[in-house]
Amino acid sequence: MNDQQLLRYSRHILLDELDIEGQEKLLAAHALIIGAGGLGSPAAFYLASAGVGKITLVDDDTVDLTNLQRQILHTTERVGQPKVASGKATLQKINPEIEIVALNERVSGGRLNELVASASIVLDCSDNFATRHAVNRACVAHRVPLVSGAAVRFDGQISVFDTRRDAPCYACLFPEDQQFDEVNCGTMGVFAPLVGIIGSMQAAEALKVIAGIGEPLAGRLLLLDARSMEWSSIKAARNPACKVCGHVHL
Ligand SMILES: [Zn+2]
Repeated sequence: MNDQQLLRYSRHILLDELDIEGQEKLLAAHALIIGAGGLGSPAAFYLASAGVGKITLVDDDTVDLTNLQRQILHTTERVGQPKVASGKATLQKINPEIEIVALNERVSGGRLNELVASASIVLDCSDNFATRHAVNRACVAHRVPLVSGAAVRFDGQISVFDTRRDAPCYACLFPEDQQFDEVNCGTMGVFAPLVGIIGSMQAAEALKVIAGIGEPLAGRLLLLDARSMEWSSIKAARNPACKVCGHVHL
């Protein structure tokens, strides 16, 4: 790190748990963020400001006026622009030293696999089960840790899925063949700061996993009811019969 970097990241370097060594791990890391919306905005903000060396933002959507109530990467004058271009412009202003890759596409199949394989960590900031399952499959296949978040109305949830340790994958908790009601904020609404809370926690968990700090939320699902601001923590074990990770050996 040069003198400017030592200054920029000094409040991280002061942390015993992080230090120069941890900050160097962040600078060497590649975070793949699926979704540049409500959750992806705060997550990307903190990963960029904290100095994650390479961030790939993936989203095929454009900025809409209805997004601006909570998707803080974007601005009024960028309505109509691709979200990833808007996100990249914001992030690069905060930290011009890191590399931001903006992919204006909906990734799946081989393309998704390729991207996940190149990442140190994946943040699922999407808003639908099909994407969540596809991202989970790719993360299990390439043994890349996944930080998963969701938020709708006043209800939020977050967990870390990391099959490098004895912990469940997303499909252990939410099997692919089980029908869940697809609830999204487009029809149900979402409380603006809720996505900020959950997205910021996704960034915190991602930074912890990259730097090897503390205990990540692997094997635990946190649920937030923002009406009462009550958190519940559910312990989740690996399902040996899971169709996605059941065959993966520790
Ligand atoms: Zn599983």
